[in-house]
Amino acid sequence: MLKDIEKDVFEITIAEIPFEKNTPREPYFILMPVPNITGDLHIGHGINLVLQDVICRRKLIEGKNVYFPPGADHAGIMGQYNAEKKLRSNNLNRTSLGKDEFIKYMHNESRMHIDNLLNEMRMIGLKANWSHSWFTHDTKRDEAVRWAFVELYKRDLIYREDNLVNWCPMCSSCVADMELTLTESMEQRHFINVESADGINASLMFIQPIMLLGAIGLGVTKSNAKFKKLVGKTFWLPILNKSVRVYEVQDEKRKFYNQNLRLIVPSYNSNDLFFAKKNNIVFNNIFDDCCSVSYDGNKYSGEEANRLIVNKLKSLNIGYKSEKFSQGRMHHALCGSAVYPLVKPQWYLKMHKMEPSAREICENNKTLFSDVSWRDRHIAVLNNIRDSSLPDKEKWWEGACVGVAQGYSSNKDWVISRQNWWGQPVPVWYCVKCGHTMVSTKNIYSCEICNAREVTPDSDVLDVWFSCALWPISVNPFGLRGHFVDIGVMGSDIFYFWVASSNMICNELYGQQAFKKAYTHGLLCDENGKKMSKSLGNVISLSNIINEYGAETLRVFVYKLMFNNSGAEWLKAGQSDIHSAHQFAVNLFDKLNKKRLNKVNSNRGKTNSILSHFQEAVNNRINCMKIGEAYNEICDFINSESFSDCSFSDEQYVELLKTIHPFHPFISNYIYASRLGGQICLSAKEFYSESQVID
Ligand SMILES: [Zn+2]
Ligand SMILES: [Zn+2]
Repeated sequence: MLKDIEKDVFEITIAEIPFEKNTPREPYFILMPVPNITGDLHIGHGINLVLQDVICRRKLIEGKNVYFPPGADHAGIMGQYNAEKKLRSNNLNRTSLGKDEFIKYMHNESRMHIDNLLNEMRMIGLKANWSHSWFTHDTKRDEAVRWAFVELYKRDLIYREDNLVNWCPMCSSCVADMELTLTESMEQRHFINVESADGINASLMFIQPIMLLGAIGLGVTKSNAKFKKLVGKTFWLPILNKSVRVYEVQDEKRKFYNQNLRLIVPSYNSNDLFFAKKNNIVFNNIFDDCCSVSYDGNKYSGEEANRLIVNKLKSLNIGYKSEKFSQGRMHHALCGSAVYPLVKPQWYLKMHKMEPSAREICENNKTLFSDVSWRDRHIAVLNNIRDSSLPDKEKWWEGACVGVAQGYSSNKDWVISRQNWWGQPVPVWYCVKCGHTMVSTKNIYSCEICNAREVTPDSDVLDVWFSCALWPISVNPFGLRGHFVDIGVMGSDIFYFWVASSNMICNELYGQQAFKKAYTHGLLCDENGKKMSKSLGNVISLSNIINEYGAETLRVFVYKLMFNNSGAEWLKAGQSDIHSAHQFAVNLFDKLNKKRLNKVNSNRGKTNSILSHFQEAVNNRINCMKIGEAYNEICDFINSESFSDCSFSDEQYVELLKTIHPFHPFISNYIYASRLGGQICLSAKEFYSESQVID
């Protein structure tokens, strides 16, 4: 049984990587995209970790000073969301605990999750720097985040501004565009007739009746010839009960905006907010933090207020009508709640200032991508940042088709503050007396201007992706001169968040790209291309594979997946792929194990030439981030006639096992150890170069 074999060599296979700080050996840093504390490892992690393990073992064999520390992610808004859910089931909540107690509780919970995740990584058969495990919200990482924030602020790349944000009432926090999903639904658009002070009639269109409560004027788009003459005139608006002016505004993507008058609502539309700021027009939010709307002296939900306003409009005899149309609605991907537009002060990172340097990194191949399509997609994200820095380009909310996969798309700049308790605090203090803002890596207790002792810290924390972007710096053991991450292996879902932001920030702070290589793999779906879900019953369980078949089966499953879906965003697989992967691993073990019996080598030169050709083919493909293809070379060779005809000397056979070892560490360790007189587990570390062996 393959599983018994794995058990025999388990400890030696997952043994600690002997990392040395001062050594002439060349460093090699594999930065693990560490899993969230919010759950167990799933098959997606399995794929990601196996690919990294292959690279790690290959680099150890090459004699590199490999640094591959495991860890866990504090998961920011999602971590808090899950913890609050657990608290609620015990009839508690975070406000009843208080901020300090809640954070203590979160750290305790995290410790438990981290241990669990590291154990699961061992079960997969990972070789790592176990004693260097890290947490994204530990002291070292917190300090790095503080330092980077202060440094970027000093360079005028971070600022605080009142801006339109996506407000999630469920999470009580703003969320970035890239955390939203768009769902199409049938909505109403509404029309009324309005009359100017000098008696001209015009039709006014709006999407939500509550928009009337936040209007500061009426807009005529540039191409609306019919109403252009109205610019500068004033109209009386019902519900708002105020006269407002008509302004000329930019054309909209949707034609119906360009054929009617439209409302200018700064707290609903980012173009309108830009317009209000430019013209110094005072405005108000339609929603409060709980997403209720004040109307007629009472508070209502948005839907309720809409209904009441429509009733009122109908009673006014101003030609009210409505029609249905298909409209996009933004939801917070994490909790599913619809998000609302709210103007709030937030901290921003100037993406468009850093974008040119990230572009230079891509265009000059300073970061190598596993597939040219990922380089193109990276550049597309940068194009979005560049284009959206033009004020008129920004479309928010009203049907703007941005989804999670578009990365930073409609964000002019990146909102890095969140209104959570769990996370790295924004390192900023405000003087209560004189209002002075202080940004510092050290805690501030008194005002540097007026010496007042009353200072309050900023209550926001930083977006978890801001700290992720700093991992290449904060996890780096090699010192920060000349050596960042050699390779980052990631699922396509985090490519945009991780590579683009890390490259931009590291380049800004250190004049160097974060990643030398970015290896992106697709996400798993079923054979029919459907997302895996419990309700569909098509989930492939990581723990089932490991418990039933063992780690080598998982590995074959991953290699075949990569080979069959090379460069694809979705990796298609079903249960039958696991059975065949298992069969494959068993066959491979048998072939290799039997082969070792052919001890006499009558044709040494020929075997050497076959072997070196084979090794070159496999290792080149690993270096080009084509692990599926590298494994295919192994399969082709083991099943070829030249392999069955070949006879190997002991030495040559070890060379063969060395080449296979990164892909099949258990099988190769077992065969290697067992051929030395059955002393299993004693000598397998000799796969790696001599200088690495530390007993
Ligand atoms: Zn939410
Ligand atoms: Zn002061």
